[in-house]
Amino acid sequence: MARYTKSACRLCRRENLKLFLKGERCYTEKCAYDRRNYPPGQHGQARKKFSDYGAQLREKQKVKRMYGILENQFRNIFKEADRQKGITGETLLSLLERRLDNIVYRFGFANSRNEARQLVRHNHFLVNRSKVNIPSYLVKPGDVIELREKSKKVIRILEALEGVARRGVPPWLELDKDQMKGSVKGLPTREDITIPIQEKLIVELFSK
Ligand code: SF4
Repeated sequence: MARYTKSACRLCRRENLKLFLKGERCYTEKCAYDRRNYPPGQHGQARKKFSDYGAQLREKQKVKRMYGILENQFRNIFKEADRQKGITGETLLSLLERRLDNIVYRFGFANSRNEARQLVRHNHFLVNRSKVNIPSYLVKPGDVIELREKSKKVIRILEALEGVARRGVPPWLELDKDQMKGSVKGLPTREDITIPIQEKLIVELFSK
């Protein structure tokens, strides 16, 4: 599948937001956004005012880039959110949060969603004791996500787990760090999703 392969830090600077795409580095003084928080490129430091459309587009790009989702996939998730009952923008964020790669990241088994996606693809996790290697798999309340026995010694996972205290686990998830497994207590509410996103702008963009 096609993936963005250029500098991840450029994306944070473009969106004027820390997207936490590079794991541990994002929490250090090496963070490119902390050092140069203006858009990349020759005219990056010029003042820029967005039109309504521009603001809506940027908001969509932020969410896509944060969760590492491609355009078509994102549109399909939006369609699904629109089809479901409730507030479309909030449902959209909830569907993104419930992806297995995001859950693995939220539990702290990986330092970034990108790394989490790779770990899921490489068969490191069980969901309700069955092997699942699909990053877009949607978890539901009651699901138990755990590392396979042989994966409990993988150094990068153990190191990532060390950083979980700093990031914290969202209230709708419960982590048993010793057993290296976690469960989904309920669906995430908007208050549980603390990313600084105005999802209504994305809904406006797709409603044109
Ligand atoms: Fe973004 Fe900073 Fe992480 Fe780079 S290091 S991905 S700029 S948060």
